[in-house]
Amino acid sequence: MTKQIAIIGGGPAGLMAAEVLSAAGLAVTVYEAMPTFGRKFLLAGKSGLNITHSEDFSKFAVRFGRASARLRPALEAFTPDDVRDWAAGLGTETFVGTSGRVFPKVMKASPLLRAWLRRLEVQGVTLRTRHRWVGFAETGYRFETPEGPVTVEPDAALAALGGASWPRLGSDAAWVPWLREKGVEVADLQPANCGFDVAWSEAFCERFAGEPLKSVSTTSDAGTFQGEFVISKHGIEGSLVYAHSAALRDRLFDQGQAALTIDLAPGRTLERLARDLARQDTKASFSNRLRKGAGLEGVKAALLRELLPDANRMAPEEVARLIKALPIPVVRPRPIAEAISSAGGVAWDDLDENYMLKPLPGLFAAGEMLDWEAPTGGYLLTACLATGRAAARGIEAWLHPR
Ligand SMILES: Cc1cc2nc3c(=O)[nH]c(=O)nc-3n(C[C@H](O)[C@H](O)[C@H](O)COP(=O)(O)OP(=O)(O)OC[C@H]3O[C@@H](n4cnc5c(N)ncnc54)[C@H](O)[C@@H]3O)c2cc1C
Repeated sequence: MTKQIAIIGGGPAGLMAAEVLSAAGLAVTVYEAMPTFGRKFLLAGKSGLNITHSEDFSKFAVRFGRASARLRPALEAFTPDDVRDWAAGLGTETFVGTSGRVFPKVMKASPLLRAWLRRLEVQGVTLRTRHRWVGFAETGYRFETPEGPVTVEPDAALAALGGASWPRLGSDAAWVPWLREKGVEVADLQPANCGFDVAWSEAFCERFAGEPLKSVSTTSDAGTFQGEFVISKHGIEGSLVYAHSAALRDRLFDQGQAALTIDLAPGRTLERLARDLARQDTKASFSNRLRKGAGLEGVKAALLRELLPDANRMAPEEVARLIKALPIPVVRPRPIAEAISSAGGVAWDDLDENYMLKPLPGLFAAGEMLDWEAPTGGYLLTACLATGRAAARGIEAWLHPR
């Protein structure tokens, strides 16, 4: 009798596992709560679908923080080059952008997802939408379906339920208490790659919300990165902020306060700024002195004044020092529902090396629901695809031990 596999969750991790297991001749059914598959994958496609990264593998493999060592075998078995080959095999050629990030030439996800679902059907995978897993039965898994409640009892199952960001796309983290009740340790899900609240004054917010701060350098415990970010009505947003989000979030958690430090004039040295500011006519307005002496105007000058209302009374060296290192105190991360991804999830200690949950033999887990996080840059999708494959291999090994 062909072994029956239930894959719960039809995002990148679940679909990749379905591809591998069906190719190995197993009877696979994918159960997806939403009316269609891969909604978050499609949303990622709206910003071009950064599917992987072209940097050297030795750098790539350590972008996953504390989880890097545990993820490494899965990433070695499905490298960024493999991701590109796999996408090409489904008719989606990719290219390396200037930042080293890899995108489909069509800059969207829908053709890839369509071809992928077609491949799964050809390989005999049963695709079930509107099938929501609602918890464990005495033996098996309970689903709510348009035809009413159903219990399935597969030979093995994979949970590929995603994290907790953008819950309206399907991954709502309802599974967390169900796994905890069964003795699985799940680290609290937290926002990752997210914006932060800042206590802006009403006047600054009204005038500058939506304005980008271009060509700035930013520093936190994560390091120093250049680029741009956006002032939002709540605080700060954008990929440059996301690069610091894990460091800022962890510092807020550990110490109750955190700040992102901005260099508003990365092209000028502190000495030159101090000298140029000191040269300005002391009778000129502070705005004019900033514009002429430091090249700062618009939102950059306003940010300095917002954070340091007394800056106009400071000595030029002091102003120069703050232009080079202006701390923006952040109050809290934006809610997880707005984040690009989530940190936390199923603890590695409760997963064996084959991605099976130790307290629940026969149930495996993959994708963003595991306890890892990574910056944006294609790392997230690559690790979801790689862990989906690794869990599929784990299921094969468990069902057909050698
Ligand atoms: C705006 C945005 C842009 C992004 N851009 C990129 C990018 O460019 N590059 C990148 O690498 N990453 C990007 N990501 C992140 C990436 O999309 C996710 O990390 C990835 O989709 C996670 O894959 P997954 O399969 O683990 O989970 P998901 O994609 O979340 O899939 C989980 C699936 O499980 C289903 N499900 C959940 N609960 C149940 C249940 N009880 N019963 C049945 N089904 C259930 C969900 O409906 C969902 O379809 C982006 C994310 C967002 C929000």
